[in-house]
Amino acid sequence: MAEVVEKVYEQVVARNRGETEFHQAVREVLDSLAPVIAKHPHYAEGALLERIVEPERQVIFRIPWVDDAGNVQVNRGFRIEFNSALGPYKGGLRFHPSVNAGIIKFLGFEQIFKNALTNQAIGGGKGGSDFDPHGRSDAEVMRFCQSFMTELSRHIGPSTDVPAGDIGVGGREIGFLFGQYKRLRNSYDAGVLTGKGLAWGGSLVRTEATGYGTVLFAQSMLATRGQSLEGKRVAVSGSGNVAIYAIEKAQQLGATPITFSDSSGYVVDEAGVDLDLLKQVKEVERGRVADYVSRRPGARLVTEGRVWDVPVDVALPCATQNELDGSSAATLLRGGCAVVAEGANMPSTPEAIEAFQAAGILYAPGKAANAGGVATSALEMEQNAGRTRWSFETAEAKLTAIMADIHDSCVAAAEEYGRPGDYVLGANAAGFTRVADVMIAHGVV
Ligand code: GLU
Repeated sequence: MAEVVEKVYEQVVARNRGETEFHQAVREVLDSLAPVIAKHPHYAEGALLERIVEPERQVIFRIPWVDDAGNVQVNRGFRIEFNSALGPYKGGLRFHPSVNAGIIKFLGFEQIFKNALTNQAIGGGKGGSDFDPHGRSDAEVMRFCQSFMTELSRHIGPSTDVPAGDIGVGGREIGFLFGQYKRLRNSYDAGVLTGKGLAWGGSLVRTEATGYGTVLFAQSMLATRGQSLEGKRVAVSGSGNVAIYAIEKAQQLGATPITFSDSSGYVVDEAGVDLDLLKQVKEVERGRVADYVSRRPGARLVTEGRVWDVPVDVALPCATQNELDGSSAATLLRGGCAVVAEGANMPSTPEAIEAFQAAGILYAPGKAANAGGVATSALEMEQNAGRTRWSFETAEAKLTAIMADIHDSCVAAAEEYGRPGDYVLGANAAGFTRVADVMIAHGVV
């Protein structure tokens, strides 16, 4: 059985040379599938594994735009439509200088199983650009978004492919992208993008959903051991949308988040993060974490080492891929950390995951723990299709139910395949079997 998986992995490496993040994501999923295939050998038939690791469609395009100085800039755009077995391709757009085909492919691959776990009718995809919005004026971001959408619009649609935000793409960018799509199509297709503003088809709770969901997942994991987040010290990395709302929900559940970070360093605020100040700095002023420290007595900015050097009970990596390596994992464990829930996509390296699992702590991979964002995107699509709008309470109740269901699906799958408490196996097995069953039903396509 292991040979089938090895062959598929080798083919992925050969076909996608140098795309190390994609290899890493595939390796993790395939390793989890060994017990699934041992029990249900038909999943290795009909080239199902070979098909699932190969995107259905990949688009790479030029994005020319004019900066404020009148110079023409050229960026590269991507949309990888990975799997549409369960519904239209669904997944965010990332604007960050590190974006390349391998990064988008790993994110798209993860998205397939994450979206399946939500039990919503959404396939998996991802896109983005190596454009860096930092330091760009609103007008530059708008012209870039318009050029990006001029090409992307050929490939997306409410029943075809529905992008949303990710790193570097928030409400402002979704607005510019939607405005251009509407103009090109002469059609108000609200369901073509999610993460929209509340006045034009957005859903309440979408902004909060990823961070809230991550903390709800951590709470569910703790409940399996008769514990809760009440009174726990929490380290959060990142200071974007996911981190901010993870901090908010953790506070609501009685925990004390004491850190956040950006590329300039991390902040430790032993008194507990001042959420209003953090929102003012990041959401209103689009500032840096140092701007928080200068206005908050007792908080300090640390520019050496990692946020994981701070001893905590719970770690919520909410920044980016591979931000938490084996040595950071060892440091966290030494400091007494007993819960890790990933708000970011693939933030823990394979060595870190191994360390968490060997220590027997509660560890939830991003595809389960951060699925609340895309799940609420599916709820936004549902409201758009029904031309309706739910209250905050209705949307949050649905998110809470979906996160509880994802948690229980992971627990059940881990038990079914003989590794109780292994959320990596649980998430991969539960997500994979849902997609695989439908791919089999649809025949060789
Ligand atoms: N970018 C988010 C993720 O990684 C959300 C995607 C979406 O809402 O479509 O899941």
